[in-house]
Amino acid sequence: KSRNPGQKEFFESVREVAEDVVDIIDENPEYHRQQILRRMSEPDRVISFRICWENDDGDICIQRGYRVQNNNAIGPYKGGLRFHPSVNESVLKFLAFEQTFKNSLTGLPMGGAKGGADFNPKGRSEREIMRFCQSFMTELYRHVGADRDVPAGDIGVGPREIGFMFGQYKRITNQFTGVLTGKGLEYGGSLIRPEATGYGAVYFLRSMLETQDRDLEGMTAVISGAGNVATHAAEKITELGAKVIAMSDSKGFIHDPDGIDSEKLDWIKQHKGRRGGEISDYVDQFSGATFHKGEKPWGLECDIAMPCATQNELSGEDARKLLDNGCIAVSEGANMPTERDGVQAFKQAKILYAPGKAANAGGVAVSGLEMSQNSERRSWDEDQVQGLLVDIMKDIHQRCRDNGMNGDTGYCDYVKGANIAGFRKVADAMLAYGVV
Ligand code: NDP
Repeated sequence: KSRNPGQKEFFESVREVAEDVVDIIDENPEYHRQQILRRMSEPDRVISFRICWENDDGDICIQRGYRVQNNNAIGPYKGGLRFHPSVNESVLKFLAFEQTFKNSLTGLPMGGAKGGADFNPKGRSEREIMRFCQSFMTELYRHVGADRDVPAGDIGVGPREIGFMFGQYKRITNQFTGVLTGKGLEYGGSLIRPEATGYGAVYFLRSMLETQDRDLEGMTAVISGAGNVATHAAEKITELGAKVIAMSDSKGFIHDPDGIDSEKLDWIKQHKGRRGGEISDYVDQFSGATFHKGEKPWGLECDIAMPCATQNELSGEDARKLLDNGCIAVSEGANMPTERDGVQAFKQAKILYAPGKAANAGGVAVSGLEMSQNSERRSWDEDQVQGLLVDIMKDIHQRCRDNGMNGDTGYCDYVKGANIAGFRKVADAMLAYGVV
């Protein structure tokens, strides 16, 4: 804590991993002697830089940009860029640390990184966003590269922003390489990338349910968020037979007891997408639904909960409400959405609980597949990418079970399983390199 003053999010994420891997460090004295965990929790480098850009009124605006390159033991640094006013060093260090384990879990050769800026894209014109993205990349370009560090999107960074940044990178370096993922299909993007995180979180959920001979048919689901991850999770879970009764945004949640079917979901995607609308408008469009201002949807009766908005959005109290209301499974689309006491509550209740680093790894996995396609200078068809995503999510689920089963009680601690499986691969690569 004293090495990272004020970095609450980062400290929490390291603590969680440390608690889970302490046993295997004890079992393997080399991990201990070589200080592997301490080395992993000190990022390789934290780059911070100024971004100046001009708004539509001609005023000069100044933002702070970052790239945290946490660990590249098993492959080039890889992780998203976030544009949101809440971005700071602690949040990005936590995300880059988590990303290291998540990327390792996918089985693909990718290290961990995260970046972004404290820029709020909300209410900005397209031209302002373009100028900001160009200015951001004018500094970032010197730290990234197809074999060095490959950023992607995250909150506030979608295909449009990736396009602006890729264009600027290409212009500065005069090179067309796979330096970013989440690109448009016309210039090296992969099919299924936009869908991958949300779909993947549902595939992971399905695998967990299968261990109890259950499926999603007839289940009721509550999903937070209305962005990329949340809408695609809702799409897939509906396709597999569940009914989504609530979704949310930063202003509150909507409750639709009739279910948010594909037509309603298309409306949400359009309205929240480029139009930048609010979820509260849903109730004017579809009768029977209610809007709950400033509230989260965790008080509703449901079988499944999928937090897909942001970190720390599900507290211990929320977790207890979900449990009291009969929730049997939680699959996290967002990164660390459940606070520590919420995680403890789920574990104590022994429900199926998938942490984001395992459940939402489908997005970065397909980004890894995008990197492979770029290296080959080919595009794979939809069935091929979709098939690989399904297989990768099954493999991640299996790795978590292999490392998370609690004796012969039949209970799987997926958090522990994910931490141990992700840690081992990176740790063994680091041992091979000696002290560097
Ligand atoms: P988007 O920007 O597309 O959507 C984020 C959603 O969360 C919006 O509905 C937003 O509401 C809501 N939200 C943001 N902040 C808050 C808050 N403080 N309280 C309540 N709601 C909030 O982001 P993504 O869907 O891409 O990402 C969501 C989560 O998933 C993040 O944790 C991200 O790190 C994680 N993730 C994303 C991946 C991806 O492939 N996109 C990959 C792996 C993880 P509003 O519109 O009102 O701001």
